[in-house]
Amino acid sequence: MENLNAATVSPQLHLYNAIPEYLADIPVEKIDSILPGPSLIFIEGNVTPPIFISVLLHGNETTGFVAIQHLIKEFDLASRPAPREIILFIGNIAAAKKGVRRLDNEPDYNRIWNGDILPEHRLAKAVLEKLSKQQLYAAIDIHNNTGKNPHYACINKTDRSFIHLARRFSKTIVYFTEPHEVISMALSRHCPSVTLECGFSGEAGGLNHVYNYLVQCLTMPAEELFSPPSNKHNDIYHTIAKITVPDNSHLGFGSCERDVDMCFRDDLEELNFSEVPAGTKLGISGKNSFCLRAVDNDNKDITGEYFRLDHNDIVTRKQLIPSMFTKNETIIHQDCFGYIMEPYPIGE
Ligand SMILES: [Zn+2]
Repeated sequence: MENLNAATVSPQLHLYNAIPEYLADIPVEKIDSILPGPSLIFIEGNVTPPIFISVLLHGNETTGFVAIQHLIKEFDLASRPAPREIILFIGNIAAAKKGVRRLDNEPDYNRIWNGDILPEHRLAKAVLEKLSKQQLYAAIDIHNNTGKNPHYACINKTDRSFIHLARRFSKTIVYFTEPHEVISMALSRHCPSVTLECGFSGEAGGLNHVYNYLVQCLTMPAEELFSPPSNKHNDIYHTIAKITVPDNSHLGFGSCERDVDMCFRDDLEELNFSEVPAGTKLGISGKNSFCLRAVDNDNKDITGEYFRLDHNDIVTRKQLIPSMFTKNETIIHQDCFGYIMEPYPIGE
């Protein structure tokens, strides 16, 4: 194991040129007993260039890590080369140990891939610097949702190779350019790059889905992997706005008994990826008359286009397709309430 200079990288990036012993068996909440911090692991393979896979950028999203553990066991990667070289980044070890998206005193590990201020920006730079030394086959960043969503793949460029790589995972594809500080955006400058959203953390369906996808990516020849699957039907959406709530507002869902600032409908998450008509009531505002806020990709406030208060009701002003609506108040405050998307037609 080789370490970068701690004076220049804090939190320190740990480098491994083989899979650390016991990694395939460790429960995620004990991962710090094997990996002391963010780790970049180079795994030998029969063919190059390597595929880059990142997991646990969000500490409570474990599907990607568990899929990697399956991969290590199924392909016996501790003693044999992988079908293709892999560079594995395991991100927020400290948050994973605690089962949270991020710790309170640190930034979101999927918002540090552009910028120069924080120690975590230097960590991200160190990873990108290592990756820039070689060609990459593809980059796959694996996540879970806290709200109910279909499994889907996100892309930050609409090149065909990106769409096809995403389409191998799901017919539901989200194209976004904000937030631009995500790892998939940084890697989209090097190779076809996708973010996979695999449903709720810990569910077997998401685990099997992403495991099978990784096996395809590792074993398929490029002309197959980056060409359209036989079913060409895609639903591509473009994220056009982010929805947030006022800082420190208290939120409730369903029948809200305590005194909350906004009380949202209990079936909120069922609206994800559906066409929500104008005039739909999303919730009720409390005595402070708080409302949802929407900002577009240029950070312009466009709340008035999408939401209004009708007496105390929080109502949609025009039809919208939401994603990532969640009822997890911590995640809403740490990240956002959800996104607004629109269909993005691309001819095949
Ligand atoms: Zn995530």
